[in-house]
Amino acid sequence: MINFVITPPTHPCVAVAGSSARFPVRRVFCVGRNYAAHAREMGNDPDREPPFFFTKPADAVVPADGTIPYPPLTSSLHHEVEMVVAIGRAGFNVSVERALDHVWGYGVGIDLTRRDIQDIAKKMSRPWDWAKGFDSSGPCGPLVRASAIGHPSQGKIWLSVNGTICQEGDLNEMIWSVAEIIAAISTGISLAPGDLIFTGTPAGVSALLPGDVVKAGVDGVGEISFDIAHEA
Ligand code: MN
Repeated sequence: MINFVITPPTHPCVAVAGSSARFPVRRVFCVGRNYAAHAREMGNDPDREPPFFFTKPADAVVPADGTIPYPPLTSSLHHEVEMVVAIGRAGFNVSVERALDHVWGYGVGIDLTRRDIQDIAKKMSRPWDWAKGFDSSGPCGPLVRASAIGHPSQGKIWLSVNGTICQEGDLNEMIWSVAEIIAAISTGISLAPGDLIFTGTPAGVSALLPGDVVKAGVDGVGEISFDIAHEA
């Protein structure tokens, strides 16, 4: 028994569909520019450059329901709907062929982004952490087991704000597939059970306002719904 000098933090976790058990979150990796149309809308060349990654703190992952706070230091809080991959088995230098064996399940998540801070970071060659890794920046719906739904590689991924569809794409438009993403990440770090991977967003990102109602879904994985708080 370790004698901690302060009360240890509670373990971040995500709900599991149809179960009271929860999935413990170890780390959160996010893929940048994984849909060509979104890369283009952000002013980038959608050619198939190697994937790149950034991270969020594990405790940025919160349930994608109820009310999500509007974060400080921004006036441009962007939504990015993404399919989330939950890793259940450790792996380093995983082959594309074996990559899906490491997946425990899938979820629907939002990579909330302080776009104005990210724009400054890009201009000044600064890290993206402050744009991507703030409190509650990774709302995530209940995970579904791959053993129940398989490994989705096509199907609609969408997001609406106040009933109007903003983002609409198909998983088959991902520049890098889930298997390729897992293979690529695992060349740089050892993947471990509990790791989540946000797999990138289709086009149509835009700014959320306090009071907005956000709904999003991925065919075969699930749907989420939450609102943005009126006041910080
Ligand atoms: Mn994203």
